[in-house]
Amino acid sequence: MSRTYDACVIGSGAAGGVMAKELCEAGAKVILLEAGQKVAPGQFRSHCWPYDLEFRGLRGEKQEPFYPTDLKDSIRFEDSDSGVGVDRIRVVGGRTLHWNAVVLRYAAADFRERSERGIEEDWPISYEELAPYYERVEQTIGVCGNDDGLEILPAGKHYLPPLPFRCSEEILKKACEPMGVRVIPVRKAVLTRPYDQRPACHYCGHCMDGCDVSAIFSTPGSMLPKARATGNFTLRENALAREILVDKQGLARAVSIVDRQTGKEEEIRARVIVVCCATVESARLLLNSRSRYHPAGLGNSSGAVGRYLHGHLSGQVHVYLEGLAGVPPFNQDGATDHVYIPRYRTSTNDGAFGFQVNFDSYMFPNHARSLLGYGAQFKSAVRRMQPGFLMLGGFGKVLANPENRVTVDPHRVDAHGIPIPVIRFRFDESDVALFRSMRSGAQEICERLKGTVFDHLGDQPRGFASHEVGTVRMGRDPKTSALNGYCQSHDVKNLFVTDGSCFTTSSEKNPTLTIMALSTRAAERIGELRKRREL
Ligand SMILES: Cc1cc2nc3c(=O)[nH]c(=O)nc-3n(C[C@H](O)[C@H](O)[C@H](O)COP(=O)(O)OP(=O)(O)OC[C@H]3O[C@@H](n4cnc5c(N)ncnc54)[C@H](O)[C@@H]3O)c2cc1C
Ligand code: SF4
Repeated sequence: MSRTYDACVIGSGAAGGVMAKELCEAGAKVILLEAGQKVAPGQFRSHCWPYDLEFRGLRGEKQEPFYPTDLKDSIRFEDSDSGVGVDRIRVVGGRTLHWNAVVLRYAAADFRERSERGIEEDWPISYEELAPYYERVEQTIGVCGNDDGLEILPAGKHYLPPLPFRCSEEILKKACEPMGVRVIPVRKAVLTRPYDQRPACHYCGHCMDGCDVSAIFSTPGSMLPKARATGNFTLRENALAREILVDKQGLARAVSIVDRQTGKEEEIRARVIVVCCATVESARLLLNSRSRYHPAGLGNSSGAVGRYLHGHLSGQVHVYLEGLAGVPPFNQDGATDHVYIPRYRTSTNDGAFGFQVNFDSYMFPNHARSLLGYGAQFKSAVRRMQPGFLMLGGFGKVLANPENRVTVDPHRVDAHGIPIPVIRFRFDESDVALFRSMRSGAQEICERLKGTVFDHLGDQPRGFASHEVGTVRMGRDPKTSALNGYCQSHDVKNLFVTDGSCFTTSSEKNPTLTIMALSTRAAERIGELRKRREL
């Protein structure tokens, strides 16, 4: 109780991990509050065979340690489309513990939707302003890939060698060439050679189950050791932030926490508070932090907090390539995706989609779900088809719409007495048009592949593929946004929010590299303001 930290960071995922490391390295005494607890690499279930698991891994048994039961039921969906789900995790490292690590820079035009494409709003910062931070993050986390010379997918200066194309991906590349569709090596925060005291990937294909050697970037494997090495770092596990408390000027002064194990309540005092709880939980925390200074929730004089929930719409198509029929099964596990199809319909709004390829792990033969039968005959069909199975996963940009939002339900609380989040989300006509355009793109590619198509992205978009953003948006106008271009609250100068909730708009690219670049830039800004004694 007696100590006041220079900074309190809430949430240890991509945003919080990089924020804690940067602030500690700049000399600040930092406490990182994390609602979850550590899962040691040895406790990962990545290498369990399907038959080791009760439901063969089909019910997320491998990820269970990251999603405790006190979290699962503490949410409500209201007036929402059926295919929409949000991802909330509780573990040290957040979702970086089992992500797929595709790291794509936003293009200059992605920050200027209103100016370039006449939709949504421009961000308060430009690509040029963020580019040095993209570079810094890429070099810290280690990214494999290429500079493919594409304006729609700007590249960094230093990449590790790219992952090689596998058989089916070479076939895909050839099929796409006549369409003018590029198939490029994916850019992933996966080490193709040893880097920064972490070993190279051993191509087991279990990135999304947890990497036991930290060849894929995670905050516990990379950022937290760096923070710890400064001597400025304190980590509090099981510390669930209930509310941010303010002083008589309405500035943030402390975080009220409840220990998830003991139920004990405590106040953690700090001069600067950085919220990194991810899109749903950050909005929830601010909306639950009401006071007479901030009656609508902390930093919410604009009413924007909770609004503009969006992210990726997605769908998958599975194709069996006739050209590989009968080829003996071989090991093609790799590091989930090795190639990427960047956005190729660049002039239209409904062209804002790209495809990730083959991100299923082969240890569980995912195509088995689509085949009928049982017994030896079924197993042999699954085995025979394995080398020729190709998966295209489409990710499309959803528009930021103020009606899609997170609110809190004051009448329903979670196991710790905290009001739960309520999600309202509906795709609008332009989202559905984009989904159809993505589906037609996938169909065209499949026709050229001359394969047997098992499913075709479905009839309706699904969201958000764990890529939620937008609920505490940045903007130039404090009347319509919660944060300025440094992720700093317009209303409360010592409050920052640097996870995906700060995005003004989305793009077809995965969000996490941009989250980490924004968090790095915000950390630098905090350092400058502290030096000038403005914080
Ligand atoms: C299977 C999977 C694959 C993915 N693949 C990719 C990919 O290829 N590329 C990509 O860009 N992104 C990918 N993502 C998404 C990516 O993981 C997230 O965008 C990223 O981790 C978000 O970082 P964050 O810090 O905002 O939130 P998170 O990583 O979710 O971390 C938030 C943390 O805050 C903690 N927290 C929440 N509320 C509180 C509270 N009240 N008090 C204390 N702590 C709290 C949580 O416990 C959690 O640890 C994937 C995600 C998953 C699940
Ligand atoms: S494929 Fe590589 S990065 Fe992915 S879990 Fe296995 S060793 Fe780790």
